[in-house]
Amino acid sequence: MIRIWITLASIHFKKTPMTRSITLISLACLLTVSPLMAQDKVLNIYSARHYPTDEVMYSDFTKATGIKINRVDADDAGILARLKAEGAASPADVILLVDAARLWRAEVDGLFLPVKSAKLEDAIPANLRAKPADNGGTAWFGLSTRARVVVYDKVKFSKSDVDSYEKLADTKFKGQLCVRSGSHPYNLSWVGAMTEHLGPQKTEVWLKGLVDNMARSPKGGDTDQIKGVASGECGVAVTNSYYLARMMRSGNAADRAVTEKIGVVFPNQNNWGTHVNIAGGAVARHAKNADNAVKFLEYLASPSAQNHFANGNNEWPVAKGVSFDNPALKAMTGGSFKSELIPISAVGMNQIKVQQMMDRVGFK
Ligand code: FE
Repeated sequence: MIRIWITLASIHFKKTPMTRSITLISLACLLTVSPLMAQDKVLNIYSARHYPTDEVMYSDFTKATGIKINRVDADDAGILARLKAEGAASPADVILLVDAARLWRAEVDGLFLPVKSAKLEDAIPANLRAKPADNGGTAWFGLSTRARVVVYDKVKFSKSDVDSYEKLADTKFKGQLCVRSGSHPYNLSWVGAMTEHLGPQKTEVWLKGLVDNMARSPKGGDTDQIKGVASGECGVAVTNSYYLARMMRSGNAADRAVTEKIGVVFPNQNNWGTHVNIAGGAVARHAKNADNAVKFLEYLASPSAQNHFANGNNEWPVAKGVSFDNPALKAMTGGSFKSELIPISAVGMNQIKVQQMMDRVGFK
């Protein structure tokens, strides 16, 4: 843009001294204003959030601020690879990822710019964001939570059979457990949390019990595990809460019928609480529009966006004191549930150790 204006100005220079001085003033103004305009009006987001219901949040932000959003959608691994390949030339300003372990990995790889924002620090509990960086800034912020819940065949089992994650290793579930791949970040984070609660030795023994109880080799996503329980292939399964809520609210009668066949439990209500993972956001290390990026994260932590995470994608708001009205979330929990309070950054940090444990016990 600057190059174009210089060309135009040099054409004007061939005119009178008067036009020359006006043009010089204009040129000076444009050179000063152009970068600010870019800063004010554009935001480049790399997003791994795979939820169409998010669209309204992007358009609301643009409506409120006039900042145009350009978005690249990819999976988490694809985004991280792209950021590394682009280096300092990356146009990314905001990164949205859907798991604590991935956020932690990207922080360690130096892909985020730690930022200070009183609004974000006030809104988001300390255990759901990165530990403060050397400059006192925060590398990433949880923006919504999702619970890792247990679903079960109501004919074969009762709620008290599965009211803790530890019970999934009980021999009564031999040949009954369905769960997605052990390498998937949702499971790495879940087991990373169990490692914080139980310690590594007990966690590995428990994991071995899970493998011994599997109804089939891990395959599919969380929704497939829910369907496996409804079809009778599995007696118990593990899923993120929003997949279940989505089926409960589905316009498709077959989806709703699936959810009527199964029970759901938020485990460990009697001790440390149910494991919750986060979807979160960060400012990219080489952001050209860093102020806009912080503004966007602050918007995502605002009551209206937080409400949208709950009503649109069936996640729980992360910001303190936000109320929401989602019938599926209310039906699932009876109103509320106790979630674990361990620092989610510790969960991310455990992922390498957890993957090694998974490999040792044969959790594929
Ligand atoms: Fe997901």
